[in-house]
Amino acid sequence: MKAKTIQLTHEEIKIILRAADSIIAEGGRTLLAKMLKGSREKKVLELELDKNPAYGFYKQEKLEVVMEKIDWMIDHSFLTTEYFGKLPMIVFTERGWLIESDQYTDELIHEWEKWIFRGKTKPDMNYLKDRNRGMILLMLQKIRESGNKSFIPYLTLWKENEYKKFQAEISQTIKAIEEQVPVDEAVIRERENKVQEALKGVTLNDYSLKCFECGERFVFPVAEQRFYRQKGFKLPKRCPECREKKWK
Ligand SMILES: [Zn+2]
Repeated sequence: MKAKTIQLTHEEIKIILRAADSIIAEGGRTLLAKMLKGSREKKVLELELDKNPAYGFYKQEKLEVVMEKIDWMIDHSFLTTEYFGKLPMIVFTERGWLIESDQYTDELIHEWEKWIFRGKTKPDMNYLKDRNRGMILLMLQKIRESGNKSFIPYLTLWKENEYKKFQAEISQTIKAIEEQVPVDEAVIRERENKVQEALKGVTLNDYSLKCFECGERFVFPVAEQRFYRQKGFKLPKRCPECREKKWK
């Protein structure tokens, strides 16, 4: 296996995570690469991947180079693969989701700012329904921190549309903005530190696993870990010797 010498910038990590958000559990590494490359293939257009802001970010790169970058993201634990049916699909790791939910909530709030600027008064708030709960709470938290009273009409519309469980959260956000409750700077700083920490990623190292057949420990080398991650395989249960015996 050839050594990977590439290093992605924070911007690239964020862009790839933003792209991945549109295909989570729906597509694999190749589809993600095609989307970043700006492919006009049927599947890409059917899933409306061309509407994602990261679409075509790597227009100038060869597809295999984009694939290498995606594998780098998997190697460094920003993304991983899991089997859904017959195919390994891209999913976020906890680290990857932490970064993505942070930048995506910023994007959603930025969209509201644009609406205010354009004087949009009756947006359809249905798009926020059935989203990830943690992400919605983070978005509300950031709206509250903004202290921006212009958001209140959108919050009110959103609340009318929302399930009971979120209505209370939205009401509290509205109240906090109206009363201009002071923002806890420490909470913001801690959140930002977490994102910066997550962006460092992790580097794979050889480690050992215990064989479920003979009980001996065996090394699970980086090259194999990489292969298992890319294919969405579960960790090997048996040592190489027992594996060989099993298949004889
Ligand atoms: Zn064994």
